[in-house]
Amino acid sequence: MNAPTLTEIRSFKGTYPKQLVYLFGTEMWERFCFYGMRGMLTVFMVTQLGLGDREANLQYGAIQAFVYAFTFLGGVFADKILGFQKSLVWGALLMIAGGFTIAAAPTELFYIGICFTIIGTGFFKPNISTMVGQLYHTDDHRRDAGFGLFYMGINIGAFLGGLLMVWVGKEYSWRAAFALVGVVMIISLINFALRRRSFGPIGLSPLHADLPASRRRIYEWGTYAGSLAVIPLILLMVTNTAYTDLFMYTIGPLTLVYLAWEMRQFGREENLRLLAALVFIFFSVLFWAFFEQSGGSLSLFALNNLRPTLFGMPVDPNSVNNAANSLFVIAFSALAGLFWLWLSKRKIEPNSVVKFGLGFLFLAGGFYIFKSTLGFADENGITSTEVFTLAWFVITFGELALSPIGLSLMTKLSPVRIQGLMMGMWFLASAYGQYAAGLLGAGMSAEDPGATNYAKLQLYTDGYGQLGFYALLAGVALILISPLVRKLMRGIH
Ligand code: GLN
Repeated sequence: MNAPTLTEIRSFKGTYPKQLVYLFGTEMWERFCFYGMRGMLTVFMVTQLGLGDREANLQYGAIQAFVYAFTFLGGVFADKILGFQKSLVWGALLMIAGGFTIAAAPTELFYIGICFTIIGTGFFKPNISTMVGQLYHTDDHRRDAGFGLFYMGINIGAFLGGLLMVWVGKEYSWRAAFALVGVVMIISLINFALRRRSFGPIGLSPLHADLPASRRRIYEWGTYAGSLAVIPLILLMVTNTAYTDLFMYTIGPLTLVYLAWEMRQFGREENLRLLAALVFIFFSVLFWAFFEQSGGSLSLFALNNLRPTLFGMPVDPNSVNNAANSLFVIAFSALAGLFWLWLSKRKIEPNSVVKFGLGFLFLAGGFYIFKSTLGFADENGITSTEVFTLAWFVITFGELALSPIGLSLMTKLSPVRIQGLMMGMWFLASAYGQYAAGLLGAGMSAEDPGATNYAKLQLYTDGYGQLGFYALLAGVALILISPLVRKLMRGIH
């Protein structure tokens, strides 16, 4: 089979291009590993490395922040040197190495393996998302639906990985669990490698056309070697959480300066669109800061304050907290995508700024429902898991109005030459969100270790009410400024 041309790929019939299905599979397995690892981290650190709860939480936050922060560099190197395809392959290889490194000696090599995972995800995650966007013509209204389907793949992987891996670790062996990361990443990589030709020119190295192969190779191998050489530095930063703060304070401003520098090469129209992208990125920090309470304060809330039954069936409230959102995304993301497409055919689809605004309104609704659990509590501070699940149901619609749309927007608003960078910045916002989530969660938890369960519930629900209020404000603000942001978007919806 000859490799297709760009026009052939983008002129596909039907709702989805076939390459989307391949990216779906590749990303699904990668997220399986990512969320599988995420689910294992704190448990592993506490039970195997002997860390205290607080230390483990800080360490967890640092790792999460670094994983997302490195997407920025992964995006830049894809734009400048590797292209998306090679970045993806390199990222997958690093993640495979990460899994097997930890499996070889879990307690001794844990942090080194984590560093491989951090860089690997940096090369993989933003670039696979950008490739999804490249399957579409700029004005193709099927793009959001495509990202909706892709998002479903993400969550199938997240759900299965989150469920399975920690179980393998706890019940069977940690070595096996980490080795499983390596094996599943190999499946992800093979899935992509087998279909690589079908992407034609999408994601080839940007140096392809300009440099002879020998010169190109020097840059590429330089990138590979450089990314391995920074491992000791990352190790130092991850294992000293004080450095995490420093890193978070500096990386954001630096990326903005870098973006400003890149913007010199573009005209007014393109730069206005980039400003619009920054507005979306800024609001997404806020969104994730609230949303990511899931891994922090909401886990503790589930642990201490929820009744272990759901509609009469016995459940582990923490599993509900971990899995409900993924399950709802799996059930509704493709549907949400098709709903946007349906509205667009009738010319009544809301623009992306309003979709973001709606995302925040759903988020607010969800947090007000978390707040309302106080009213369902008994005197021991134990409250309804059904109401808690309802909150996740509502928040999921917020996520669907914001997260896949945000991915889609980054690919629409950025000039081709810096799409990797902008996608990296989108995920960097998640890094800040994770980071802020930890701070918010810590601010809500009881300082007095002897506080009663009911008092803890009061504190948390109070905090969730406040988050709900701020989410509401953000939603209203977005809808109010939507005409302004639309102007910046210059005809992109
Ligand atoms: N859950 C989504 C994913 O894993 C979004 C994550 C994020 O941007 N914070 O891709």
